[in-house]
Formats: sequence, structure tokens, C-alpha cells
Amino acid sequence: MIRQLAPHVADLIAAGEVVERPASVVKELVENALDAGSSAVIVEVQRGGMGLIRVTDNGCGIAPEELPTAFLRHATSKLQGPEDLGRIGTLGFRGEALAAISAVSRVDILTRRREDAAGAALHLEGGIPGAVEDAGAPEGTTITVRDLFYNTPARLKFMRKDSAETAAANGLMQHLALSHPDVSFKFRKDGADALHTPGDGRLESAVYAALGRDFARSLVPVEGKGGDVTVSGFVTKPLQCRGSRSMQVFFVNGRFIKSQLLTAALEEGYRNQIMKGKFPGCVLAVTLPVELVDVNVHPAKTQVKFAQEQAVFDTVYHTVLDCLAAQGAPQPAAPAPEQVQNQRGDFFQSMDARTFRAQHTAPPARPASRPHPAWDSERPSASARLSDSASVVTYGAKRREPMPQEQRPLPKPPEKPRTFVPAIPRAQAEEVPGQRAIEPPKEEPWRIAGEVLRTYIICESGDGNVWLIDKHAAHERVNFDRMKAAQEPPMRQTLLQPAAVELGQMDKELLLENLPLLEEFGFSCEDFGGGTLLIREVPADIDAGDVQAVLEELAACLLMGRSLEERRESMLHTMACKAAIKGGWKSDPAELRVLVEKVQSGEVQYCPHGRPVAVKRTKYELEKMFKRA
Ligand code: ADP
Ligand code: MG
Repeated sequence: MIRQLAPHVADLIAAGEVVERPASVVKELVENALDAGSSAVIVEVQRGGMGLIRVTDNGCGIAPEELPTAFLRHATSKLQGPEDLGRIGTLGFRGEALAAISAVSRVDILTRRREDAAGAALHLEGGIPGAVEDAGAPEGTTITVRDLFYNTPARLKFMRKDSAETAAANGLMQHLALSHPDVSFKFRKDGADALHTPGDGRLESAVYAALGRDFARSLVPVEGKGGDVTVSGFVTKPLQCRGSRSMQVFFVNGRFIKSQLLTAALEEGYRNQIMKGKFPGCVLAVTLPVELVDVNVHPAKTQVKFAQEQAVFDTVYHTVLDCLAAQGAPQPAAPAPEQVQNQRGDFFQSMDARTFRAQHTAPPARPASRPHPAWDSERPSASARLSDSASVVTYGAKRREPMPQEQRPLPKPPEKPRTFVPAIPRAQAEEVPGQRAIEPPKEEPWRIAGEVLRTYIICESGDGNVWLIDKHAAHERVNFDRMKAAQEPPMRQTLLQPAAVELGQMDKELLLENLPLLEEFGFSCEDFGGGTLLIREVPADIDAGDVQAVLEELAACLLMGRSLEERRESMLHTMACKAAIKGGWKSDPAELRVLVEKVQSGEVQYCPHGRPVAVKRTKYELEKMFKRA
């Protein structure tokens, strides 16, 4: 029976706006359909839901005489007394959704219970119900919401583009479909099918349908139990981890939630198994007694509080750890990092793309569709690679607006450099072979003593200081400054064969919405249906194998950035990082010299993420360390 909650119960409920955007309407309506025990749910949206939202289910239906009550505030059939709040087993419980939705739109509802011969229909405008009418109807409920926010112009003004709303609804539908593999979901947007899950009760079927074949193939099943907590689902193989956390999907008792605790537990299970900057993806269902989880903590019901956090953490962590261990240690698909050199062979080229371009203004010797060398199956020699790069045409991407002056990092004036007088004969210092014969290197106020752990450059400066420089961080900073100051579009590579990159619907839509920004960074891509993006061109200084991870990270930047400037800046970070040589890679001494020079001149101090690029120990500090001083 649908009844209005007594005020003292209603007051206990975490209050908040339920109808923020079309996707929140979809969420509430689908949750109602699931609570009604449906085995099939069809969702249609037009214009991102601003035109129309229709949810059809085959659930229990509503009695005609209760129909108007369902639209009253705090009217619910799912809760009665305050004691029920401690054991919520349904997705809804506040009795607010239908009231809130109907208050800001035009709603039609058609419903029939199995036991009733005839169904009932009701129309509401701005929350005011008309008369309940008899109507022929299939078993279940259909709710149609039109003209959302028609009577709240202020709210209407704040709506994002329809495509953004469609993407949000789509992401939500994926989560809902994954959370209930036993229910068949259909999602249609603007007349086209975007999602269809079989509802056969198998999570892998839902994952395949909702997140795509490639992602499904990167998964391994996990299953575990600890005390009252059960964990089951899929996690990505360590070698197929992703560039962002966008593919981490958690459910608690069938409810999609965001949880730092669960993310931390999952990632802890991968410790030492994945590369820095990579994240596992997962679809994990956590099940525990309803009394042990409080869902009444967040208005959108997307967060929960666990009564026994440690038990939940441990169960997820051990389940993931054990299942990964059972898979065996990851077989490195790529050579060990020590073997890897900068595959792009473009260190100097990217250090100064403009000069490079200026030197190669002759028309390309080969068609522009020559792929990036890294796409070639046989690796050409270094010099051949360089001439390949020379044949790359720069396309007419829009000129990037120069950054405002005050945002450019101000180079710090160097502190009176003194010429370094080598204490060790020059010959022992790292030099570019053959360079001395052509032109003796000018005396630098510093000397590279070597590189350790293939990551840190050890350097001695003329003023008696010893420096450790993180070569990746330094290169990242140099790239960042260069990209930020660039007045011209970046160099691009046209792929011989466009690459289809599967990103998931959310990320794909987000990227498509921001095509001009992607163009600016040197990507040219288009929609390839489903969650897949077709990539035709990529920036010259990005590795072929990295494109998917880079795009995932860029999508994460787009999602997090509040303003265009913020988004552009964090995308720059990502691009600078991805174009940098990596710790563990073999580096040419000449490359290291360029980086040391940048650090010693004071131009580079911190990586764009704020981590230090170099640490300095003075002679005095060293002497103290060794008790000489
Ligand atoms: P809540 O879900 O928190 O109870 P709602 O405002 O979403 O509140 O819905 C009010 C009531 O209307 C529900 O408690 C339920 O009894 C009924 N109802 C809503 N949608 C459906 C549906 N699709 N099928 C059957 N009953 C529904
Ligand atoms: Mg509800």
C-alpha cells in the first residue's frame, strides 16, 4: 500500500534535490521499475531527456485508487516506521521521486496490476493531477515525462547540451543494467538503440552488452566471501589496466555506488602488479546484510556507509588478490622496461617542434598517410625514423589561443652559474659519441656523473652541489611548458589505418562533445558507434600503444574540469606526461644533458603535478651526513 510517511519519519530522511537533470529522472524511474519486480525495462529519451523520457516496465503496477497518492511527497509503499530505515532492501525509500519529477514537468502514467482487468491512466502538470481514468494497459507501468523544467526557467538555463545529458543517461543505464543482470534493459536515445541486455542473469552477458567486447575480454572473474560480506564480479587483468578509473563499477546490494573504500581495496589488490598511472577496471558486486549498510546518507543515494568498513575492505582486497594470484604472475607482453628506449626516437624533435618543422618545410616526399613509425611492424633505423617524421604534414588545426601571460610559468633566473671545472677528466663524463670531434661542447657549469636506476640523473654543479634529477618528471615539465607556450598546432601523424578504440559510451560521448579541444591537441577522431571512437590522426609525440590510455585520461580530464581552462590545463598535463621519456627507459646521454640543462638553468623545478623534478644536496649536507663537518 502506498501511504504518506508520518512527518517524524520523513524528517529522518537525507533530504536533497532528486531532480537535478534528466539522468536523475531516468534513475528514479528505473529504480521504481526494479523495485516493482520487473524483468524487462525499456527506457527512451529524446533530446537528452529534455524532450521526453519514457520508462516502461512489466512490474507489479499500481492500484488505480492509489495512483494520485504515489505522486504525493513522502508517499511510499516501501517504508512504514523509522525502524525500516535501518534495513532498506529496496532502491527507493523516500517517497519523493514521483512528487519531485511531476512538480517540474508534464507526466503521463499508465499502469495495470496483474490482478486487475483494466488499467488506469493519470496526467499531471506541474504536480497537479487530473482525474484517474480507466485505460487498457499491458501489465506493468509506463511513465512518460515531457517538458522537464518547463515551469522552472532558472533551472532550464543551467542545463548542459543535450548530448551531455544523453551521455549521462547512457552511463547511468549501463550501471543500472550491470547492477541487475537478471533484468533485460533496453535503452533508446532519439530513436536509436543504444543498449540491450539479455537479462539472462549472467553478469558477463550484461558486461558484454553494456561495456563492449574489448573490455569484457580484458576481465577475469573474481569471487570471495568474508564473514557476512560476499564479493563477486570481474576485474581487469593487470596487463590490461586502464588510463583512468572510469571503468570501476561497484554495486552494493544491487545499488550502483561510488566509494573510495572499495576503490582503495580493489587497487590494493593490484599493488606491484600494474604500472604507475594505470588503474584496474572492474564490475564488482558487494553483497551484505541490509542492516550493515546505511544507504540513507546521500540525497542521490550513490554513497553508502558500511557498519564494518574493515571487513568490507578486507573481503574485497583478499578476493581480488587471491583471484589475481590464481591467474598466475602477469606475463609481460612488452619487453622489460630496462630494454625499452624511447620508441618514438623523437626526443629532440619534440623538444623543439617548431625548429624541427622549420627545417623540414619541403613538401612531403611521401603521402601524408604514412603512419607513425611506431605503427610499422618493422622498426626502421633511427635515421630512417627521423626522415619518416619529416614527411609528416602538419594539418590546419586551429591555432591554439596563447595562454594568458600570468599563467605561464616564469622561468627562475639562474643563480650566478659558475663554469664547472671538472675534477674528473672529461673523457669519463658521459658524452655523445663523436660530438667532441665536430664541435667541442661548451663548458657547462655542471657535470653529469651518471644515471642510476635508469630514472635518476646524478649531477654535480659548479657551486659544489649534488643533484638527483628525475628524468621523466623533468621531461614532463619541459613538454608541458613547451606545449603551453606553443603558438602553433602540434604535429600530427595520420594513421595508415584508422584505429577503432573502445572507450565505453561515457568516455566516448564526452570526447565527442569536445572534438575541438581534441583537435587542438592533435587528435582527429569520429564516432564509430557503440562505445568506440575511430581515430584517424594522433599527435606525433604519443605512442601508438598509448592512444587508448591517453584518450581515457583525457576523458577523465574533461569530466573533472569545471571550466574550459581547467579542462585544457589538465589535458595538457596528460599530454605532457605521455609524451615524456619514462623512468626505466634507456636514455641517450645527449637527452639527459638537455634535461639537466633545463634544471640547472632554473627553468624547470617542479613537474606539472607539483612533484619535485630535482633534489639538491649541498656539499655541507653531504659532509654532515658523513660526519666530516
Ligand atoms: P519511493 O520509490 O521512494 O517509494 P517514489 O516517489 O519513487 O517513492 O514512488 C512512490 C511509490 O509509487 C512507490 O513507493 C511505489 O509504491 C509506487 N511506484 C512508483 N513507480 C512504480 C512502478 N514503476 N511500478 C509500481 N509501483 C510504482
Ligand atoms: Mg522511487
